[in-house]
Amino acid sequence: IVSIRNIRKSFGALEVLKGINMDIMKGEVICIIGPSGSGKSTLIRCINALNDIQEGSIKVEGMEVHRPDLDKLELRKKIGMVFQQYNLFPHKTALENIMMAPVLVMKENKTEVEERARALLKKVRLDGKENAYPGELSGGQQQRVAIARSLAMQPDVMLFDEVTAALDPETVKEVLLTIKELAADGMTCILVTHEMGFAREVADHIYFTDRGVIVEHGTPDTFFDNAQDERTKLFLSQIL
Ligand code: ATP
Ligand code: MG
Repeated sequence: IVSIRNIRKSFGALEVLKGINMDIMKGEVICIIGPSGSGKSTLIRCINALNDIQEGSIKVEGMEVHRPDLDKLELRKKIGMVFQQYNLFPHKTALENIMMAPVLVMKENKTEVEERARALLKKVRLDGKENAYPGELSGGQQQRVAIARSLAMQPDVMLFDEVTAALDPETVKEVLLTIKELAADGMTCILVTHEMGFAREVADHIYFTDRGVIVEHGTPDTFFDNAQDERTKLFLSQIL
């Protein structure tokens, strides 16, 4: 569903991605881990065209993401993204936040979108919070609203960039549970995460990046128990 071919990305003279290749199948959960500054967020942002690339290609469901004549709306429908900062609209309720893009951007029928938004709130275990404002919700709850908001566009792929990094330890769990349930439902998920327990349990495949290259990748078991590369071993020894 996602194919990444030899992409290179520079910011000025700094080359941040140096030839990345990945193939992600429908329904797979992929975790990208690696040291700070290794290019994880940049890679994720390249996948949904928030960053441009200098070389290579990225296809999502057959659509070339970095075509000059790309239809951005089409892309937004295919790929959902959730960041560390949830960026909900503070003066809109949870339900309104979820409904905004489908109604205002996609011009979908409001009644249908509302029905979907209510179902999504239930899915992220926030039924009853329809009319709550972001300020009345915990960080974990806001992040789950942000996930529901992305899902409201009915994407084929969801990207998550350290979505639990800013949360209290108690609320991290509930957000990870939401992602886990999403994965169990068959959603294709690409996550950048520092939650190694989660990665081991939920990922189908793990990629380890360092200084703009994929150093090593494999199933969670081979990755965590049988890492081959010295950089991977060093990283794992520091965090596990
Ligand atoms: P972290 O774990 O800290 O989030 P990361 O692996 O996500 O790190 P990136 O955010 O992708 O790393 O950054 C990779 C490199 O690209 C860093 O050296 C960073 O300074 C640089 N970089 C990222 N965004 C920009 C930008 N907009 N302009 C210039 N340099 C950037
Ligand atoms: Mg990052």
